[in-house]
Amino acid sequence: MFHLSIDEWNKLNFEIMNCKKCILSMYRKNPVPGEGRRDAIIMFVGEAPGAKEDEEGRPFVGAAGKLLTSLIESIGLSRDDVYITNLVKCRPPNNRDPEPEEIETCSPYLIKQILLIKPKIIVALGRHSGKFLFEKTGLKWRSIGSERGREHRVKIFENETILLATYHPAAALYNPEIKGFLERDFELIRRLYVEISSSKKPKTILDYF
Ligand code: URA
Ligand code: SF4
Repeated sequence: MFHLSIDEWNKLNFEIMNCKKCILSMYRKNPVPGEGRRDAIIMFVGEAPGAKEDEEGRPFVGAAGKLLTSLIESIGLSRDDVYITNLVKCRPPNNRDPEPEEIETCSPYLIKQILLIKPKIIVALGRHSGKFLFEKTGLKWRSIGSERGREHRVKIFENETILLATYHPAAALYNPEIKGFLERDFELIRRLYVEISSSKKPKTILDYF
């Protein structure tokens, strides 16, 4: 079954690439819509692009991205097997936290991506995307430390999915304890993926473009 249309997908990317809806458009070099499979089973949602991502227009290509890539590979997948994006699509100056209004303005793009991709597992990387996605599905958010590593079967924007939060890979770069938690959470992601891919969505011709 075709579950997305190229037109809708292109329209969305065009909108993000030309978006001036919030102040971050004044500072960015390139918006970073996201990349990966359009029928991905797993979607990773980070916070916002950093310097390298802003330069390249691609998500998670800096130091945190290297760690994320190796975690994805550690569970037998590659970046091309998943979809990687962020809560906010443009880099906040000096990597400051995104402001609530920026999240509010930008998040319809993430919601649309979720509606088009229909991932079976959504992994929130860090507290910003964790809080946003938990609250959207009616789950209570306390802190990343208490919410990480627990799977929640939820309905998010009409889509049944497993929502799971873990630490942001940037937080693990100089902290072996956090890296250990991330590795543990990726082992859970691997188990969930194996469970779900037995009822895998068929690949369509659209997924090759
Ligand atoms: N941190 C993020 O949250 N997203 C990126 O794309 C890169 C770093
Ligand atoms: Fe538009 Fe989002 Fe970029 Fe703001 S951060 S300009 S809302 S794409």
